[in-house]
Amino acid sequence: MKNSAAIIPVSSPECQKKSWKHELKNAFSNNRQLLEYLQIDKRAAPYEINESLDFPVRVPLSFAKRMKVGDPLDPLLLQVLANDIENQVVAGYGKDPLLEQGLSQPGLLHKYYGRVLFILSGSCAINCRYCFRRHFPYQTSADSYSNLQNNLDYVSSDTSISEVILSGGDPLLMGDQQLALLVNQLSEIPHVKQLRIHTRMPIVIPSRITEQLIELLAATRLITCLVVHTNHPNEIDDITGTQLQRLVQNGIPVLNQSVLLKDINNNSKTLALLSRRLFSYQILPYYLHLLDPVQGSAHFYESEANALVLIDSLRKSLPGFLVPRLAVERPGEKSKTILA
Ligand SMILES: *Cc1c(COP(=O)(O)O)cnc(C)c1O
Ligand code: SF4
Repeated sequence: MKNSAAIIPVSSPECQKKSWKHELKNAFSNNRQLLEYLQIDKRAAPYEINESLDFPVRVPLSFAKRMKVGDPLDPLLLQVLANDIENQVVAGYGKDPLLEQGLSQPGLLHKYYGRVLFILSGSCAINCRYCFRRHFPYQTSADSYSNLQNNLDYVSSDTSISEVILSGGDPLLMGDQQLALLVNQLSEIPHVKQLRIHTRMPIVIPSRITEQLIELLAATRLITCLVVHTNHPNEIDDITGTQLQRLVQNGIPVLNQSVLLKDINNNSKTLALLSRRLFSYQILPYYLHLLDPVQGSAHFYESEANALVLIDSLRKSLPGFLVPRLAVERPGEKSKTILA
């Protein structure tokens, strides 16, 4: 199973029948459609939904299919439903919690030694309501090819950079050809050794893991890994897990990061199940992030004290390597801060 020279073939899985681009284009784009699909009467829901937010609703069908019909408190639904309380102004919650805007140059964040982060796409396949980049000025940061050339030049001219992280938005919104071009350009910079892709796309639309993508990542000289973003075990159905495992089986490690979210995954049973489910597809937990204080997300906040109790409880029930690192980003620090 491990590291075979050839790409491990699959007999066209169910999820490959429709192209990922088609799924992306046909995503739910408002609460009403989504609630209708889930047969939830909005008057029965314990929240006021809101349709006129700056950060629109976006949920592809393949993700909505993993939600429970008729359940207004489904943990996947709560991550994406636009709620009126997002409009509340809460002290300490700003538009740029990590002080990223204005750092580095357009489309590039260089905060930590040896690693730079490319912001490659202005959007995501899904809009998570707690997103710490929901107010990020993507228009000026991403998409433009001239930024990309400037950013490749930036990496070329700094030999301390050994790892490039493709992030966003979601970098896998780029097509395989465009991505191949970029990976090729990065691999021509001798001091770049590692390539990391931070993406939620394979969780949201598993058919994004195409044959071409696997071939591309398996073939580059760069040591490559994927870091996906999953918060609840229900996000990993068998199609999703199997697609990600294909990457692992072709020599590309897959790690997961989660955000600790009130009423979604803030209990040790859910987090333990998430770790076990991930590992059943050979995916390892990496970070569990405390929520960044971004405007509109205060209702998802779980305290540091409770998070520490949770991690302690996970340690008592899981092998050490299945316990994620509890992390928080503090503006100005030289790395993420590990709390436990
Ligand atoms: C999180 C992050 C990284 C990667 O940090 P690791 O601890 O190596 O995962 C790099 N750059 C930026 C700007 C980040 O926010
Ligand atoms: S996938 Fe990540 S970057 Fe995109 S909206 Fe969700 S949290 Fe934000």
